Amino acid sequence: MQRPFNFSAGPATIAPEVLAQAADEMLDWPDANGRRCGMGVMEMSHRGKEFQSIYVHTEADLRELLAVPKNFKILFMQGGGLAENAIVPLNLSALAAPHGATRIADFVVSGSWSDKSQKEARKYCQVNIAASNADDGHTSLPDPATWHLSANASYVHLCTNETIHGVEYPALPDLKALGSDAALVIDFSSHVASRTVDWSRVGLAFGGAQKNLGPAGLTLVVVREDLLGHALPICPSAFNYETVANNQSMYNTPPTYSIYIAGLIFQWLKRQGGVAAMEARNQAKAQLLYDTIDSSSLYFNKVHPNCRSRMNVPFFLRDEARNDTFLEGARAANLLQLKGHKSVGGMRASIYNAMPLAGVQALVEYMREFERTQG
Ligand SMILES: *Cc1c(COP(=O)(O)O)cnc(C)c1O
Repeated sequence: MQRPFNFSAGPATIAPEVLAQAADEMLDWPDANGRRCGMGVMEMSHRGKEFQSIYVHTEADLRELLAVPKNFKILFMQGGGLAENAIVPLNLSALAAPHGATRIADFVVSGSWSDKSQKEARKYCQVNIAASNADDGHTSLPDPATWHLSANASYVHLCTNETIHGVEYPALPDLKALGSDAALVIDFSSHVASRTVDWSRVGLAFGGAQKNLGPAGLTLVVVREDLLGHALPICPSAFNYETVANNQSMYNTPPTYSIYIAGLIFQWLKRQGGVAAMEARNQAKAQLLYDTIDSSSLYFNKVHPNCRSRMNVPFFLRDEARNDTFLEGARAANLLQLKGHKSVGGMRASIYNAMPLAGVQALVEYMREFERTQG
């Protein structure tokens, strides 16, 4: 039976093979040799040998998939991307401000998510908006050459894929070349594992899991070791990166079942050929959808072509009165959750790693048919 294609922005679709494997292992988890242990993963001690083996393999697979260098720690935390908006300044804002000097962080505002991040950081440090695309409704990316970076910021925060506005950085900036010694912090929640990462440019990357990695709540942090050890005294112990790193993400009980599901997704990603193979596929999927939109007289997308997201594709009908008919027809055609974010309106197709090309093909066929018969 073909499941419907689910275009949700998050929590988002997961490969059916992964869900089927989790179902098969729900009551009695088998180890790598197929030996059942008499417990489901949710019921295991996080310190027991069964979960330890799940954890070690999950971390190693992620390190391999994302090509994370040895001098970076991989942390599995909780609280989602939004909690990191506070946890990052609690840990990093004092980096370039020893002995009580003013703590400064630079932010590039490119959409709703980076805007939320800068607002939250204001509770913990001084915020400088180095650049913003608010003037054009978050549809472009300010050229890094025009950013107003502070001389003594502790870090520069970017959201490298704006899930709501559909704006994605085609490449990471080289802060050094822009005259900044700050650490680059990226929120890669909604495109992690969809493309390769140039770690030589990154100090810390964080992401909620519910777009490309697994269940909501689980939060991935990848942090360069030299950035650890600078947390503010008020930083909660469970959110102190150094404490979490020193305890293999088990200072407190980690979200064990979510880590296990992420591990199954990592194995699935490896079977697909890894992140570079995913990137090529994601490029083809996005191209097909944008070409369909651009060649139509009914649909349009507002984002500048040089920064259109490969993961989240917002689009509009020129006749907004037809939105409900479009969505009803889509549901009838087994194409789910295409309604745009309430702050933007229109439609949004999220086409994460687990969305196959066949799903995008079904969507564009439906869009063309709708335009032909109802446009
Ligand atoms: C989804 C998302 C978040 C929020 O994650 P929560 O788990 O809801 O806290 C943060 N940043 C980006 C870019 C996202 O797409």
